Amino acid sequence: MTCPICGKPATERYRPFCSRRCADVDLGRWLTGAYAIPAGAEGETDSPPPPDLPPTQTDRKD
Ligand SMILES: [Zn+2]
Repeated sequence: MTCPICGKPATERYRPFCSRRCADVDLGRWLTGAYAIPAGAEGETDSPPPPDLPPTQTDRKD
């Protein structure tokens, strides 16, 4: 197994990373990605909710 960050052979202690540094890098990427993901955009819903249209032309003019 190689380090997904730098491609060096992973060590037993920090696997799947090669060092603490690469593990921190991966953690930083994960946190950054987590913050970058907007709410509700995790793929749980394929279709967006219907737009909330304001009521127009519903009043009778009689
Ligand atoms: Zn590495």
